[in-house]
Amino acid sequence: MKVNLLGAAIDALDMQQTVERTAEFIKSSKPHFIITLNPEFLYQAQFQHRLLDLIGGADLVTPDGVGIVWACRVAGCPVPERVTGIDLLLYLTERAAREGWRIFLLGSAPGVAAEAADKLVEKYPGLQIAGTCHGYFKPEEEKDLLNRIKESKPDLLFVALGAPRQELWIDAHLKDLKVPAAMGIGGSLDVIAG
Ligand code: UDP
Repeated sequence: MKVNLLGAAIDALDMQQTVERTAEFIKSSKPHFIITLNPEFLYQAQFQHRLLDLIGGADLVTPDGVGIVWACRVAGCPVPERVTGIDLLLYLTERAAREGWRIFLLGSAPGVAAEAADKLVEKYPGLQIAGTCHGYFKPEEEKDLLNRIKESKPDLLFVALGAPRQELWIDAHLKDLKVPAAMGIGGSLDVIAG
């Protein structure tokens, strides 16, 4: 079920159901786009219709934050619980380690994605890292980066370029990358790398 909040259709799923839906995306092998919708993003989307279209085109939109959960309840269409980017990243990574899904971490300052990958492997032994790359690549380096991601064949692509840039980037490249599940994660790699 979708809940409409200020023009954005949010999936009324709890964390476990969100992980299961993502597992279906990965099983399908077709590209899917997950947006964890926080209040700032929804606010910006009120003024930039490009962002509202992006949310409308996503395969899964989660309520990222208590503000969104609260607003849905007040609007009379409750969602079960908040599903934030960093929490979903951790749940999916834990599942990835068990299922053998390969993850690619893109974004943050040089060294951070690799450090976060090490921390995740420590936390979830057996986790397969398809690759990592920092988020300060030049426009002329983008083609190589896209090729690297494609060749590494990740099941999950996490993009930490800040919202909404990361969502715009995923939208622009997802079809070409053919990653079954891609999502923006804001500053999560900085938090995980510590
Ligand atoms: N970032 C990046 N490339 C850029 C701009 C930002 O990789 O050109 C990274 C930045 O280092 C940080 C993340 O994107 O790790 C953005 O974090 P922030 O908390 O600002 O994002 P938000 O949670 O607000 O979307």
